Amino acid sequence: MDKSKFPDELPDELYPKLNGEQIARLAQVGTRRSVPAGEVLFDQGTIRRRFYVVLQGAIEAVLPSSEGEVHMRLHQPGDFTGELDMFSGRPSLVRARTVDPTEVVELDQVSLRNLVQTDPKLGEFLLRVFVRRRAAMVSRAMGDVVLIGSRYSADTLRLKEFLAHNGHPFKYFELGLDAPAEQLLQRFSLGPEDIPVLIGRDQSPMRKPTNAELAARLGLNAEIDSERVYDVIVVGAGPSGLAAAVYGASEGLSVLVLEAIAPGGQAGSSSRIENYLGFPLGISGQDIAGRAFVQAEKFGAQIAVARRATAIRCDRPPFPIECDGDDPVRGRAVVLAGGAEYRKLQVANLAQFEGAGVYYGATPLEAQLCKGEDVIVVGGGNSAGQAAMFLSTIATHVYNPAAMPFSLFFNDGSGCAFHGGDPNLESHGCIHLETKDAEWLFNWAAKDSVGLDIVGPNPHLVGHGPSHSDVKNA
Ligand SMILES: Cc1cc2nc3c(=O)[nH]c(=O)nc-3n(C[C@H](O)[C@H](O)[C@H](O)COP(=O)(O)OP(=O)(O)OC[C@H]3O[C@@H](n4cnc5c(N)ncnc54)[C@H](O)[C@@H]3O)c2cc1C
Repeated sequence: MDKSKFPDELPDELYPKLNGEQIARLAQVGTRRSVPAGEVLFDQGTIRRRFYVVLQGAIEAVLPSSEGEVHMRLHQPGDFTGELDMFSGRPSLVRARTVDPTEVVELDQVSLRNLVQTDPKLGEFLLRVFVRRRAAMVSRAMGDVVLIGSRYSADTLRLKEFLAHNGHPFKYFELGLDAPAEQLLQRFSLGPEDIPVLIGRDQSPMRKPTNAELAARLGLNAEIDSERVYDVIVVGAGPSGLAAAVYGASEGLSVLVLEAIAPGGQAGSSSRIENYLGFPLGISGQDIAGRAFVQAEKFGAQIAVARRATAIRCDRPPFPIECDGDDPVRGRAVVLAGGAEYRKLQVANLAQFEGAGVYYGATPLEAQLCKGEDVIVVGGGNSAGQAAMFLSTIATHVYNPAAMPFSLFFNDGSGCAFHGGDPNLESHGCIHLETKDAEWLFNWAAKDSVGLDIVGPNPHLVGHGPSHSDVKNA
């Protein structure tokens, strides 16, 4: 294989070497073994693959694709395999094979998790590398999935969001823009009416899959034993549900999280959160959700995505929870962390444009769709302020029709958050951020006497209400 042909090779900083002390610690809990040259240690799709430290010889990690293998890394003495799927139980995205007769230390996932939990120094080192490796694969679209879609299709955005919020790397081809899109559709005798089309590692296309179908195909959910009684079942994997999962699992409880869509909840749709404790420089909602997800899995919490809880029977423990299209699960305690569901604007034909012109988040995914466009941000609270700031770096114009302050984070004191409020925005030659009077806004938002948003239980004053109301008491 000519390695110079693979510009995608991951950089060296993702592959720090283990020192002698760390190798000795891993060898205490692992098994030393000799592997002949050419043996596949794990393949793309292997579930619960093992972790390897190279003592002698070499292991090559490659990304299989329909065009052949893409070289990723040659692991040499002191190097180790693995990334985030070591904890999630999800199938491996890569293949690894020995290139020479090789001596390794081998650990199964249970031993590795125990080590990470009980040896904080080594645990932090390994976890940090695993997180970086997965982030690099996501940013380079190095995975086992190709998505063909269109910016005008709401289902395309839904699938992109689902994959992104689950941290699953994917290659995307836009119909009418990227040549491979048409070629791939032709190869599978599909047409534009079939998009979004997803092609997985088995090379069979899925047309407009639901999130649950996609989760099943990619193996995102580890098998749930319906006979098992969990100590805690958490409904919802937003910040609250993930926090409950981390605290429960770190105390040694068996925890199952049921998430209707993907981890992150509302926070996952925020480009920047400035007021979460411990993040003085701010952090994107997706990053905080990703970290919480890894933390929960590190402690052994099981997280099932695309699995909506629909009913719970509360007469006596263990409480059965029914799930959309899946077997019920049972828990001795249940935490409902279903968050809030936002009311929508009463605008004719809204549904027709949702996901195809009207969006409910401002993450890099929506931003791509707004590149070079005029954008209207509807709302007068902090989220609208964040969205306007973020989108102004990529859109031509960002308008906000709220003639009111954006409250705590963004108000520059002038009563209008962005008029000259941010020097960076001003220095962007082609970008203007404007506010315009919009009396209609006062029909669904309200301010107190100093001009701050009123939030509270009155549904006429705020834009959201609890969403766990959709879990019925059966
Ligand atoms: C654009 C935006 C920007 C924001 N910026 C900030 C900020 O800067 N600072 C700040 O403090 N807050 C911010 N927030 C608010 C913050 O994100 C929320 O307060 C926080 O996400 C609430 O967390 P939660 O876990 O309670 O609920 P949610 O985040 O709403 O999560 C609930 C989860 O439960 C799932 N769910 C619901 N029903 C079911 C069911 N029946 N079965 C299974 N799963 C279910 C949902 O899919 C969702 O993933 C922002 C919100 C948005 C939308």
